[in-house]
Order: sequence, then C-alpha cells, then structure tokens
Amino acid sequence: MHKRLFTPGPTEVRAEILKELATPQIHHRSPECAELYGQIQPNLQQLLYTENPVLLFASSSTGAMEAAVTNLVAKRCLNCVNGAFSARWHDIAAGNGVPCDVLEAPWDRAIRPEQVDEKLATGEYDAVTLVFNETSTGLMNPLKEIAEVVKRYPEVMLLVDAVSAMAGVKIDTDALDLAFVLAGVQKAFALPAGLTVAAVSEDALARAESVPPRSYYFSLPQMAKYHRRNQTPSTPAIPQMFALNAQLTAILEEGLEARFERHAAMAKTVQEWAKTHFDIYPEEGYWSSTLTCVRNTREVDVAAMIDALARGYNLRLANGYGAIKGETFRVAHMGDTQPDEIAGLLRAIEAVLGL
Ligand SMILES: *Cc1c(COP(=O)(O)O)cnc(C)c1O
Repeated sequence: MHKRLFTPGPTEVRAEILKELATPQIHHRSPECAELYGQIQPNLQQLLYTENPVLLFASSSTGAMEAAVTNLVAKRCLNCVNGAFSARWHDIAAGNGVPCDVLEAPWDRAIRPEQVDEKLATGEYDAVTLVFNETSTGLMNPLKEIAEVVKRYPEVMLLVDAVSAMAGVKIDTDALDLAFVLAGVQKAFALPAGLTVAAVSEDALARAESVPPRSYYFSLPQMAKYHRRNQTPSTPAIPQMFALNAQLTAILEEGLEARFERHAAMAKTVQEWAKTHFDIYPEEGYWSSTLTCVRNTREVDVAAMIDALARGYNLRLANGYGAIKGETFRVAHMGDTQPDEIAGLLRAIEAVLGL
C-alpha cells in the first residue's frame, strides 16, 4: 500500500504527472526534444521571475550545488551554514578544492545580513552560498535582506539553494540579482526525483568562462552553449522533462500567487497546531512556508509515531534530520498538497499520540 508522502522531499506526485513519465522516448537531438525544452524554458523563467537561462541538470540538487561552487568561484567563497544542507554545500566546495570559509549560525537561528556584510567587507570573497529554506530545520533565511547586502559588492555573486522553496515560495531572481539559484524538482515542484533546475545569470556564465575548469559533467559554459539550441551537452532526463512540462502548465494554471498563498496558509495551520501541542524548532520570524520542524517538547517516541502513521494511516512523515533526529520531526506542507490533506494529517497525528 502506498504511503502518502508528507515528507520534505520527495513529495507526493499526482497520478497524472506520474503518467507523463511513461511517454514514449524521443531522441535527445531530435527537433521534438528541442521543442519540449523550448516549451519548458519560458515557464521556468516565469516561475523564477527571471530572464536568465534556466539550465536542466540530470542530477539531484547536490549536483547543481557542486556546479555552482566549481564554476563560479574565482577567488574565495563564503558559505553561510546554519543547518545540514548548508553544511553540505561547504563540504562540496571544500571537497572540490574551492577556496572557502564558513559563516556559521546555530541551527535554530537565521543567518543575519549584518554577519554577511561584515565578512564581505574584508574583500576576500567573490561568492556567497546561502540555503534559502533549510529543510533540516524548517528555517527560512532572510534571502531578500542578504541579497541587498550582496548587491553592494559588485564582485560578489550570490549562489542560492532554493531546493525546498522553489515553486512554493516566490523567488524574485532578477530583482534580487541572484547569480545562481537551484532546486531539485522532488520537493515543492511535486515531481519525481532525478532532475534539478538552476537559473544562471549572464554575469555568472561570463565568470564561468574565465574560471579554470574543475568539472567536466557540470561545466556551465558547456551547458550554456547547448542551452542556446534548446539542448543539453549529454542525454537529459527525458521522462522527467515530460513530467516537468506538464507540471509547469498546471502550476501556472493554478496561478503563482495562488500557489504561494496556499503554501503560506498551510504553513500557518501547521504552525498553530505545533504551537498548541509542541513548539517550533527555529526562532520565530523565520519559519518556513513549506515545512514545519516541530520541537518534540512532549518527548514522544518520534520513530514509533512515524511507524504508526505509516501502518495505520498510510501516511509518511519525516523524523528530524541528523543531529536533531528524535528531538524534532518535520511536517511538509509543500507541492500539490491541499489544506484539507494537511488537516487530515494533523488529525491522524493527534489520534496516534492520543492528543
Ligand atoms: C533536499 C535538499 C538538498 C539535497 O537534495 P538532493 O536532491 O537529495 O541532492 C539540498 N538542499 C536542500 C535545502 C534540500 O532540501
């Protein structure tokens, strides 16, 4: 029996979208494939409020995180770390030999724009990595405010992991001057795992031309070159492209504002519920619109609760991530999930815990 996903990735995928994956294969150098690519492109740009090219990666988000730091850091990168995924981005940079430093905040605290400003004032950096929505902690960093700081340093590029936010929260790519903003589609896009999209600015592509190549598969100049003919350098994830195309149409039909508002409304419901029965892990003011990380103040057995929801209700919830497993659990309210489904989930948790 399928367990309905309320996990912060992968998220539940609608049956109509799953069917798209079974579309007969087309050749990746055929006009049909270029046409498909060409249909997807303006819709992605609309979703991301950008005129930048939006590149398709046949990899999970981690691959695009690697592409960003290997292609776009000529001097030194400042990695903002306040959770598991931002820590991973630092590990990726360091592991690839990219010169970098960490700017740290506790996991339940947001990265402050002033902290970033202070570091950039040293003149040592030409790039900053930031995870917009930390999926490990349910914390949304103040992207807009940090972007305003970075704008004051013309040499510095802002690289953003928007994995669990994109398609659930507005990302004003061009207004914020984001050099690189990426997301795997298995989160708020509500698509099957295996594809990542990233909007890359023309300035970023120009810099990538001058940075000595650190990667072959993730070469942004190569990807940009093929992008201009609606292609990818190697075989793209063709089934995923059919699904993405259909889902983008559905997302635009729902309306971007309506979609973002639905996410905000579900977040409010879950936050209120969490405040009533437990507490919320990150500091107030930075709670995520797409998932809530509940602080386990009742000291319930989280693993047992997740198991009971799966067995008794066919619902899949996520435990806390890494160091805060058991101490927290996470409720995803993203993708195509509807408010009535969230209400049903909360009733099921109450029943399991006898609340
Ligand atoms: C899920 C997630 C990732 C990693 O994604 P993969 O697709 O598993 O590589 C990175 N960053 C954030 C914020 C995420 O939520």
